[in-house]
Amino acid sequence: MSVLHVTAECYPAAKVGGLADVVGAVPKYLSGADVIMPKYGTAWFRNQTTETIFKNTFWFPGQTIEFSIQTLTSTDLGFTLFVVDIPSKFDRDGVYSDANGFFADDDERWLCFQRAVLIWLSSSNLPYTVLHVHDHHTGLIPFMIKYSYDYSNLQSLKTVLTIHNLAYQGAFGWDRQYLLAAFDNWKSGLLDWDHHINPLASAIRCADWVTTVSPSYLEELKEDAGGLEWLFNSEQHKCSGILNGIDTTIWDRATDKYLAKPQTTSLDQFKLDNKIELCKQLNVKPSNCIVSFIGRMVEQKGADVLAYAAHQILQTQSDVNIVILGTGDPYLEDQFKILKEQYPGLTGITLAYDESLAHQIYAGSDFLIMPSRHEPCGLNQLYSMRYGTIPIVHNTGGLIDSVKDYKTSGGTGIKLKELSVKSVIDGIKEAAAIYKDSKLFNQLRENCIAEDFSWEASSKKYQYIYESLND
Ligand code: ADP
Repeated sequence: MSVLHVTAECYPAAKVGGLADVVGAVPKYLSGADVIMPKYGTAWFRNQTTETIFKNTFWFPGQTIEFSIQTLTSTDLGFTLFVVDIPSKFDRDGVYSDANGFFADDDERWLCFQRAVLIWLSSSNLPYTVLHVHDHHTGLIPFMIKYSYDYSNLQSLKTVLTIHNLAYQGAFGWDRQYLLAAFDNWKSGLLDWDHHINPLASAIRCADWVTTVSPSYLEELKEDAGGLEWLFNSEQHKCSGILNGIDTTIWDRATDKYLAKPQTTSLDQFKLDNKIELCKQLNVKPSNCIVSFIGRMVEQKGADVLAYAAHQILQTQSDVNIVILGTGDPYLEDQFKILKEQYPGLTGITLAYDESLAHQIYAGSDFLIMPSRHEPCGLNQLYSMRYGTIPIVHNTGGLIDSVKDYKTSGGTGIKLKELSVKSVIDGIKEAAAIYKDSKLFNQLRENCIAEDFSWEASSKKYQYIYESLND
C-alpha cells in the first residue's frame, strides 16, 4: 500500500498555517507515503535542485498549460516530495497571496494543479493505491477520478480527504465548469452546493473516507458547518476525527535550531533562559507574566476579542506583558499597532510571519492564549505545551480534545467556557494569579511537558483507514 498526499502546503517548503505542519510530518511516520505540491516562486524553491521526471500539456480555456513534475534532489525531508511546476500559475512569491494581495485566479490555479497531478498519475505506472487530499485546493480530485473521462484508468484509486479548515471551501460559479476536465454530466449534482461548484462539499461526498483534524471538530460540524452540517450527518458513516500530532524532531526543547538557549538542564532553567532572551528582544519586563498570541489575525482566531481585552487588561494591570505575533486583517493589525504605541514596555507586538520568533515565543512565554471562535485542531497549544508554556484556550474544536482544565488532576491549561471580552480578561487575570503561585505554576508546566502529542498514535489511525479502504 502506498499513499500520495496532494496538498497546497508542506513544511518546510511552503507554510501558511497548520496544514503545512501536518503534511510535512505525517508522511515521516507512515511507510510508503509521498507528497506532491505546487512549485511556488518563493525563496525556498529557488534554492532547491530538482530533476524533471515527467512533462506534459493540457488544454485550459484559451490557453495550453505546460507543466512538469519534478523531484527534489538536494533536500532530505524524510519522504519524497514531488513538485508540479506550472510557471504561469504558481511562479509567484506566495502560496495564496503576495505583497499585492490575494491572487484573483485561485480557482484556475488549483484546477491546473489538480489536473496536472491526475495527468501524471494516469500516464505513469505509479505504485499509489490511496490519494490523500487536503482541504478545498485538492477537493475536486475525488470527483474527477470517478467521473472525468480522461482519468478513468484511476478509478480504482481510493481517496481520503482531510479537512483542516471548513471555513474555506473554494466555491466558484457554474459558469466556470469548463475549468474541470470533461466529466459525466449526470453526476454534476456531486459538485454542486448552493448553486455553486463547491470543491470541499464535493470532496466530502466523493472521497472514500473523510477526516477532520480533531474528534470534537467533527462533532461540532454536524451541528454547525456554515450550511454543510446536513452533509456531515448524511456522510457520517465514512467520517472520523483524528487529532493532529506534532513533529517532535522539529519541536524539541533540546535541539530546536531557532532557540538561542535550548534545554541543557532543568525545565525551569530552560524557561528562564528563553524568557530573558525573549524579553530582551521585545523590550519587555521579564518579571511580568508573559501572555502570548501567535496566529492569523482573523475573527476565527478571536484576534478582535483579544485586542479589545488586552487594552482593558493593560489599563488596569502592570504585571502582565502581552506578546503578539501575527498577520492578517488590516483592521485587526491596526488594533495591535495602537496597543503597542499605547503600552510600550508591556507589549511585544510583531506584525509579521516569522517562524524563528514563533519558536522563541513558545519557549519564552509563560502562557499562550487562543481565544478562537472555531479551532479545527490548533497546533499552537500543542507546541506551547511541549515548550512548557501553559495554554489559555476557548473550549472549542481541537482545543477541547488537547487541553485539560488546570483545576482537574493532571490539568494543563485555562479553559474559557465562552468567548467574550470578559472571559478573555478573566482568563488573563487567572493566568496572572497562577503565575504568582509558583507551586501551581510549576506543576502545570510539568503537566504540559508530560503530554504526548507525537504523531506515533495519530499516524496509526491514518494507516488503519488506508488499509481498510484497500481490503
Ligand atoms: P491555522 O492553520 O488555522 O492557521 P494552526 O494552529 O493549525 O492554525 O497552525 C498555525 C501554525 O502557523 C503554527 O505552526 C503557528 O506557529 C504558525 N504561525 C501562525 N502565524 C504565524 C506567524 N505570524 N509567524 C510564525 N508562525 C506562525
